Amino acid sequence: MSSLPLALYVHLPWCVRKCPYCDFNSHALDSTGETSSKAQLDAATEKQYVQALLADLDHELRAWPEVAERPLVSIFFGGGTPSLMSPAGYQAFFAGLGQRLALQDDCEITLEANPGTVEQSRFEGYRQAGINRLSMGVQSFATEQLQALGRIHSGEEAILAAEAARQAGFDNFNLDLMHGLPGQTPELALADLQQALALKPQHISWYQLTLEPNTEFFRRPPRLPDEEVLVDIQDAGAALLAEAGYANYEVSAYAQPGYQARHNLNYWQFGDYLGLGAGAHGKLTRQQADQPGGLLIERRWKTRQPQAYLSRLLEGRDFLAGSESVTQDQRPVEFMMNALRLREGVAAEIYNQRTGLPLTDLQPLLDKLRQQGLWTDQQDRLACSELGWRWLNKVLEEFL
Ligand code: SF4
Repeated sequence: MSSLPLALYVHLPWCVRKCPYCDFNSHALDSTGETSSKAQLDAATEKQYVQALLADLDHELRAWPEVAERPLVSIFFGGGTPSLMSPAGYQAFFAGLGQRLALQDDCEITLEANPGTVEQSRFEGYRQAGINRLSMGVQSFATEQLQALGRIHSGEEAILAAEAARQAGFDNFNLDLMHGLPGQTPELALADLQQALALKPQHISWYQLTLEPNTEFFRRPPRLPDEEVLVDIQDAGAALLAEAGYANYEVSAYAQPGYQARHNLNYWQFGDYLGLGAGAHGKLTRQQADQPGGLLIERRWKTRQPQAYLSRLLEGRDFLAGSESVTQDQRPVEFMMNALRLREGVAAEIYNQRTGLPLTDLQPLLDKLRQQGLWTDQQDRLACSELGWRWLNKVLEEFL
């Protein structure tokens, strides 16, 4: 499957403290809840974690040796809070990675940074280590909303962090912002967006707060804006972003021309990715005659608890917690749940290439959606129409 793009996701499972809305695999570094502007992993844990990531990669390459022939199109350090790891930690990781895998010349390498854990010298170090894109978890610039979200930074610190990133040479960065926050009005949501736009990011992820199971907010829900207010926020915010030149190319993603997030595009286009680190997930594909369409598509995930993950290094064990192949029945819906998040959808030809299944199997359903005005008229694309985009969940239900 050398023609299928391969990306790398690396998970850093620690945060300064746990945010009440967060259902990611993140664990408080400091149980006292104390924060520091220089928060970071201790040197011994960092060194061990980098060793574990590389050992994890070695296990992956033993299970999937053909992956070593495929250069990486993108790398994403997500979390948790990857900016808790020092530039030296990333340098050590890249040195080991380079001995095992090749990177495409224009490989996009993104680091998620929490504005409460970074300063300019650290940004410069990340840049020198090879990171060429930042994604900053700002969420809001308003003090009241940040406090309600349990964030460790102020709005002012977020502004300073974005400016420091630019001064350190980052000319490609994303700001993560949430809306529909406790006590938020359309005016406050727009003020957040206007502040974000003033920082001139190339990309903005603007998504609505949802209450996820296994979070503090789910157990004790805050009072969120009414449905009508949420619709007003969504409409006004989308209009503001469009006016400022940011295209809404995915449900929650807005980009200036040429700055779509390549790593995420690979997920949405059903590409492959290695997942390294505690709780990381990966998806890999290879030709195998006894599988549907002659393709084995395997999802693989790693042990979640940071200490259990590190123990596996010391015990010389594999880091895998589980794996399963994507069945013939699951493939159409998994493909569409990703591809249809994209406003322009995907080229029709990649359906067969990436699922192993003929697109003709879906033709009756696509014809029905087209008759209902929910599907594009372009025969060479798989995409919703304007109407279908507004009723995306209804369209996806049809593939279930
Ligand atoms: S900083 Fe991000 S990953 Fe960490 S707890 Fe908060 S939302 Fe979750």
